[in-house]
Amino acid sequence: MNDTEYHRTLGVGESAFEGLEEHLEDRSYEGREYRHVPDYRRGVERGTVLFDGEVVRGFPKVPRTLVLETGIPTQFEDRVAVEEKLNGYNVRVVRLDGEQLAFTRSGMVCPFTTRILQRLVDLGALFDDHPGAMVCGEMIGPENPYTAHDYPEIDSLAFRAFDWRERQSGEPLPVGERRDRYDRYDVPQTRLFGSYDVDEAASEVLAIVEELETESREGVVMRSPDATTLLKYTTSASSRSDLAYAFSLPFDYGQPFMFRRLLREGFRTIEVDEGDEDARERAHDLGEAILLSMREAVRTVDDGGSIGERHTVRASPETVEVLLEHLRDQGLTLEIESDRREDGDRVLTFCKRVQSSNDKIRNYLEGHVVAE
Ligand code: ATP
Ligand code: MG
Repeated sequence: MNDTEYHRTLGVGESAFEGLEEHLEDRSYEGREYRHVPDYRRGVERGTVLFDGEVVRGFPKVPRTLVLETGIPTQFEDRVAVEEKLNGYNVRVVRLDGEQLAFTRSGMVCPFTTRILQRLVDLGALFDDHPGAMVCGEMIGPENPYTAHDYPEIDSLAFRAFDWRERQSGEPLPVGERRDRYDRYDVPQTRLFGSYDVDEAASEVLAIVEELETESREGVVMRSPDATTLLKYTTSASSRSDLAYAFSLPFDYGQPFMFRRLLREGFRTIEVDEGDEDARERAHDLGEAILLSMREAVRTVDDGGSIGERHTVRASPETVEVLLEHLRDQGLTLEIESDRREDGDRVLTFCKRVQSSNDKIRNYLEGHVVAE
């Protein structure tokens, strides 16, 4: 497909497409060239892919409300479907030219996810019947190369669908229809808590979130019944664990990432109308999340060690091999910490090296003076 046709398929003007083109990243997957939109651009979702004349739409950014009571009515008119927000990594699965491929958030084919999915869920019949489908979901569980969050029900890695969209247009199926279809094809889905009237949704969601809080789960995503409007809300447990993680690599996470999570806690204490004692406890927990993880990081470097992002993956030796190649191709430095075989699989623990936090912490420990 030439670029004129791409702009039509994407539904943007010719000059808008030309403007977009310079921001496209060139990649290849097993000898096939493709381009993708790696970051947010006006008019086209981040993660949109142009692949052999085909378009794979990016997954839209999900807006967040800091206050349920007022945020819900600004987004929704009538009914609100509330589903669990899972903490893992976003994946879009499509069939292109007979081949099933898994794309990560920014629109790269992930060779690891593409392969491991074959083992986790059978999408063959779904794509036979609906070749233009884009299966959107979250990969969750402790053993993956991107995000490690534990779920008691998952030992290694699992897939949970949360949207069914048209690959080319990005149009979603309504919530009810999507849930029925995935059931029919035996595809595991994220949990549906219920559908509520917009007036009662805030109190229902607060109760659900309280429950998720006790299990340290991430939160909820709310949808209009036609699934075109989305809104997310997350637990304090999730803010704290994000902060703990970010402060364990304090110079490699953007400061806005940390600030946004602190703000969430500020609004939460008002929304749940906390008394002084509960607010003080919240402050204490928040402080611990930040300080104890940072203390651990500084101590590790002080003891001569290095800090980084540690991940474990469990897959066939071939899958692990292509994953390592894929990560190194992106310029990551990996340190292999353990490498063993279990039931024919290769179980590998590696650490993605982070530069700034190691360097800066060492400099400060050596007395580097800060000009501030
Ligand atoms: P981005 O929106 O770019 O992915 P982010 O880190 O701000 O970045 P999150 O705060 O994790 O994103 O929230 C949006 C993401 O939540 C979605 O991209 C999706 O991967 C994930 N997610 C998990 N469960 C659901 C769900 N039930 N419905 C929609 N998205 C979900
Ligand atoms: Mg997420």
